[in-house]
Amino acid sequence: MKIHNYSAGPCILPQEVFEKSSEAILNFNNSGLSLLEISHRSKDFVKVMDEARALALELLGLENKGYEALFLHGGASLEFLMVPYNLMKENGKAAYLDTGTWASAAIKEAKIFGETVIVSSSKTENYTHIPKEFEVPTDANYFHCTSNNTIFGTQMKSFPTLSMPIVCDMSSDIFSRTLDFTQFDLIYAGAQKNMGPAGATLVVIKSSILGKTGRNIPSMLDYQKHITAESMYNTPPVFAVYASLLTLQWLKKSGGIAAIEKINQAKAALLYAEIDRNPYFRGAANEEDRSIMNATFLLENEANAPVFDTLWKEAGISGLPGHRSVGGYRASMYNALPIESVQVLVDVMQDFEKKVAETKF
Ligand SMILES: *Cc1c(COP(=O)(O)O)cnc(C)c1O
Repeated sequence: MKIHNYSAGPCILPQEVFEKSSEAILNFNNSGLSLLEISHRSKDFVKVMDEARALALELLGLENKGYEALFLHGGASLEFLMVPYNLMKENGKAAYLDTGTWASAAIKEAKIFGETVIVSSSKTENYTHIPKEFEVPTDANYFHCTSNNTIFGTQMKSFPTLSMPIVCDMSSDIFSRTLDFTQFDLIYAGAQKNMGPAGATLVVIKSSILGKTGRNIPSMLDYQKHITAESMYNTPPVFAVYASLLTLQWLKKSGGIAAIEKINQAKAALLYAEIDRNPYFRGAANEEDRSIMNATFLLENEANAPVFDTLWKEAGISGLPGHRSVGGYRASMYNALPIESVQVLVDVMQDFEKKVAETKF
């Protein structure tokens, strides 16, 4: 049976990425050697890293604009502390927008380094919306936000214009929609949501913002050291970088971010229309802040959950239960999820409606 994978991360990747990366594990570039047993300093792997870094910048429209792309270890969670380490001045200050679990995890780390101002938070409403009216202290060393809140299903549609560097955690919507990426000075994303397998983190930095903190930064946590070493300061996560490169190549071949954005919007429109139409469901997030990547929705009557759960499982749908902090369901519609899978889910929701309506009497 075909499986429709709605996992929030690690998540679905293009089938050709699974095939090509499997081949590379057995015989990389017809060398007779596995990708997993060659030196990361070999010509073949250096080429992979160089291409992945260049292609990431190209797809974001950031090449030749003073940006560097790095593939690091440690996930987005390590960036929560690398960002303040590299950008918050000694006795300085940082500004954060609190839009969800991941934003607040980033705030927790920043507080270790210095004054961390939360400019606004939607925590008391269980993060069902994105705060839009807030003031950022002009003396903050940087402003940090989360473009897509994976757990709550909200997404920032616009970003403030500020005099300080803007840092954005784009783990769950990078490469999914067109934005003017030059408005950001530092973007980071764990690969496993929309770019590749777990194990690599993409960091895109405007290098001119570095070197201003007066802090003594341990080498492995120093962006400048990674830039100087061309993302090879130590052994990089070779498999994750290679599979990410394949995913980026697939995206480029598919028409880049603009083309995938159209499909992503169509997928989200299809599902949200059903959530809004079907009397047995309701969306969890504020309509204007809804994410096109992670759609969160709830049953109007929790008692019907066993019926719905049986139906979607029978249809080959996987990974649909919501995060424990929201409950209900979460459909993660990352780039590689085909619109056909969304249609299967919509059909199941309509079947469910009929079933419940029939048994009501
Ligand atoms: C998943 C996620 C993280 C955590 O990523 P790790 O790579 O597991 O550290 C951080 N931020 C956002 C927005 C996420 O979706």
